[in-house]
Amino acid sequence: NNHLISKLRAASLGRENDIFARLQDGCEVTFGDVFNGALRIASALVSLGLAPGDRVAVQVEKTIEAIQLYLGTVMAGGIFLPLNTAYTVSELAYFVGDAAPRVLVCDPDKKDDLQQIAGGAHLLTLDRNGKGSLMDIAAGAGAIAPVERGPDDLAAILYTSGTTGRSKGAMLSHNNLSSNSEMLRDYWHFTAEDVLIHALPIFHTHGLFVATNVALLAGASVVFLPRFDADAILKAMPSATALMGVPTFYTRLLEEPRLTKERAAKMRLFISGSAPLLVDTHEKWESRTGHRILERYGMTETNMSTSNPYDGDRRAGTVGFPLPGVEAKVMLEGQEVATGETGVLWVRGANVFQGYWQMPEKTAEELMEDGWFITGDLAKIDADGYVTIVGREKDLVITGGFNVYPKEVESLIDDIEGVKESAVIGVPHPDFGEGVVAVVVPEHDRLTSKAISAELETKLAKFKQPKHIVLVDALPRNTMGKVQKKALRETYATLFG
Ligand code: ATP
Ligand code: MG
Repeated sequence: NNHLISKLRAASLGRENDIFARLQDGCEVTFGDVFNGALRIASALVSLGLAPGDRVAVQVEKTIEAIQLYLGTVMAGGIFLPLNTAYTVSELAYFVGDAAPRVLVCDPDKKDDLQQIAGGAHLLTLDRNGKGSLMDIAAGAGAIAPVERGPDDLAAILYTSGTTGRSKGAMLSHNNLSSNSEMLRDYWHFTAEDVLIHALPIFHTHGLFVATNVALLAGASVVFLPRFDADAILKAMPSATALMGVPTFYTRLLEEPRLTKERAAKMRLFISGSAPLLVDTHEKWESRTGHRILERYGMTETNMSTSNPYDGDRRAGTVGFPLPGVEAKVMLEGQEVATGETGVLWVRGANVFQGYWQMPEKTAEELMEDGWFITGDLAKIDADGYVTIVGREKDLVITGGFNVYPKEVESLIDDIEGVKESAVIGVPHPDFGEGVVAVVVPEHDRLTSKAISAELETKLAKFKQPKHIVLVDALPRNTMGKVQKKALRETYATLFG
């Protein structure tokens, strides 16, 4: 009767005493524990007056209780609204004001500050040990049955990462979430035998809907880590079967000599997404572990849209094929482009969200009446059907009237001896409108910007060559490993006067 919950529970029915999560402190949590605890939270939320369609906004550390709060909110008929733990109180004020939640759950440390912005919401606490006023109320709450909700009812509002501008609340229905995760479970061959290393944050689609939902739907177990921790992941690896990570997980693990073929012998799948995986990382990972990373592509608004194949050829630098049930096309000025040409990626399918929360105009601009969603990512699809993400439309540099795709320039820079990685941006330029700037992280201090420009001179048309090259220690990234180009553009805004 509760669409998403019935689906998430199905695989573990009759296996209530099997282990769902192994925690870092050695505790084991069964499927029965997870769902029963969630029901008590649902009961507590209902007792606080939560009605179907009410929002429960949550900024808490990653704990099993936080997972139960997600499930409990959906069981209570509510809409789960997780928030990045990095957000400050003034940032939270925007989200809370925008979403007008009935209940707001935060870390006890933040309670006093949030009191002022909570509005009409009940303010409850949940700490990093899974304790707080929420759990106190839940402990005394009676049993309830999950509240009836259909496939088209909203289960979550998930805010986008805010990489290109202000975060937008993506409204996701029960069926958006269940259909995508069921398909991913099958596509990636997840079963009850799997042990997934879960080290991603659970305020983002990757850790919450891909990792958690797929594991529950498969009846698999997880090694539940509060955050990325190379040591803990390496320790878990010999007895695990799968890892889902952002590219920085893989680059950081590669820095560990303990990452070996022997250690990864029992693993069957390494998945990467949320940001582009460098070809170099893909290749190094294969030579170190014997495994080819499976890269996939998705967004808050669409869950997962493409994936490299499980059995076929996983091509580095591509994000694979449109997933079953997902249509994809590349568009330029209202026309579908020829095979291999670059344009904006559009997707359609049961995975596509219901619109942006309280942004009808933005929704109308990006989500077409016939179901196509304009992702804002630049992409191309080759003759074999592989999709390559070329960057974001908003990051396209237009200099002297010519288009420069940052990824083309970045790829050439990254190939230069002594370059670790790079980000190419456009900043205001008095003559050209925008000037191309390359921000480069060297591998050693012998690399000079002169050497980089010399290399590029022979390989790139003049208008694509950076007018300025800056060497830096690291690129600014968020917790999902996304390079913050907006921040870079601000830093170098006045470079050309
Ligand atoms: P905002 O929409 O607020 O600017 P955001 O787009 O970064 O932020 P998310 O929904 O978390 O917020 O991220 C989705 C984006 O991440 C995609 O649109 C795409 O640009 C990028 N992305 C995800 N997976 C991949 C991948 N495998 N390769 C390249 N880019 C990826
Ligand atoms: Mg986005």
